[in-house]
Amino acid sequence: MTNGNQEIPYKIFLTEDELPEYWFDLRPDMVNKPAPILHPGTLQPCVAADLEAIFCEGCVAQELNTSERWIEIPGEVRDFYKMYRPSPLVRAYCLEKVLDTPAKIYYKFEGSNTSGSHKLNSAVAQVYYAKKQGITGLTTETGAGQWGTALAMACGYFGIDLKVFMVKISSQQKPYRKAVMETYGAQVIASPSDTTAAGRKILELMPDTGGSLGCAISEAIEVAATTPNTRYVLGSVLNHVLLHQSVIGLESEAAMAKYDIEPDIIIGCAGGGSNLGGLIGPFMSRKLKGQADYRFIAVEPASCPSFTRGRFAYDFGDTGCTTPLMKMYTLGSGFIPGPNHAGGLRYHGMNSVLSQLFHDGYLEARSYPQNSIFEAATLFARAEGTLPAPESAHAIKAAIDEALACKESGEAKTIFFGLSGTGYFDLAAYLSYNEGSLGDYVPSDEELESGFTTLPKVE
Ligand SMILES: *Cc1c(COP(=O)(O)O)cnc(C)c1O
Repeated sequence: MTNGNQEIPYKIFLTEDELPEYWFDLRPDMVNKPAPILHPGTLQPCVAADLEAIFCEGCVAQELNTSERWIEIPGEVRDFYKMYRPSPLVRAYCLEKVLDTPAKIYYKFEGSNTSGSHKLNSAVAQVYYAKKQGITGLTTETGAGQWGTALAMACGYFGIDLKVFMVKISSQQKPYRKAVMETYGAQVIASPSDTTAAGRKILELMPDTGGSLGCAISEAIEVAATTPNTRYVLGSVLNHVLLHQSVIGLESEAAMAKYDIEPDIIIGCAGGGSNLGGLIGPFMSRKLKGQADYRFIAVEPASCPSFTRGRFAYDFGDTGCTTPLMKMYTLGSGFIPGPNHAGGLRYHGMNSVLSQLFHDGYLEARSYPQNSIFEAATLFARAEGTLPAPESAHAIKAAIDEALACKESGEAKTIFFGLSGTGYFDLAAYLSYNEGSLGDYVPSDEELESGFTTLPKVE
């Protein structure tokens, strides 16, 4: 197991001092920049004041930045990071052996903090900027619960009130997520609720509904907009979230540099795009500058194929059509994804930077049906010992397929993927898979077409 003359360990850890001091923004390196966010009323590019009514100032400045590559990580955020970072870069020796492949496989594991995923990297940053601005309360939505849990941890630490609108069906199916959020001091409200006008309206029309992410977003935004000193925060899709997640890619780069590791293929799962964007940032920068060549692969569920079957168009971020418009690969904000246990990947759109890179051919994308994902997850768990989140297992599946292609061709490529979270909160999904009762829902062209009809007319 050597690379040159160096022995590569199973886990490459960085020291606390090696934790990045700056986040990295890819936008200055892009020739074709992502299209600007538009005000939904005027269709003009948003200025800071448009966004500051809902979002915190520090995050708005980062959202609108297109010229600064390096943004200093505030000391208090870095101190929080030290409680659970740097995260390990793992050489998947055991998986390589099981696959009998000449490929070398590495993964970066973000699931070892209590919230169970990479989302904490942005939650702590966003709460820090809220606190700095004198904001006393935050609101958000959560579907599967990962984002709500991460934000509850960050709010508990900084002493900020948090209201989480949790999709009703998830709050019934995942009562333990609610217990964690409440332990960190958050108030968890099943959505739709009778505490907001948006929620009451939906309850009147559909009293028995299990709720949706779009509805929970509308409730959270309403409360932020009508409560003094309160703002709304979002856990993916936006560019400041990608910025915070760049800590994943920067740590990976530093760990690889210690052993002269150069990946050939870099893979991540993509819901709204934040873990993938954070993972590939510094590597994509080198590719854009012609300093290195990598293949980048985004992996999504066949049930919610934003990249692989979506349109590149301006769209709303929410089902209620209240957010600014973003140009992205999207299935239409009215698209309701079919049942899939990778809750974190059930989003109609995709971050605008990743969308532009995909459009320009720098990033590949592929999709897989659910049962093949759980098959890969099971193989990985038995080989490597770590139980992956169903979202993360999308990246595993693509990495396994690439490693098997190496076995065919005899090439010893280096494959690197992001393992964004733990599967401990998804045991109901594993239960269904083990019973053989998991469906492989794939939307028809007609169903996608009806989502596209909800795209706003811009231009
Ligand atoms: C939320 C989530 C995702 C998807 O979100 P991105 O913004 O696309 O990264 C992926 N993996 C896990 C474990 C998640 O919790």
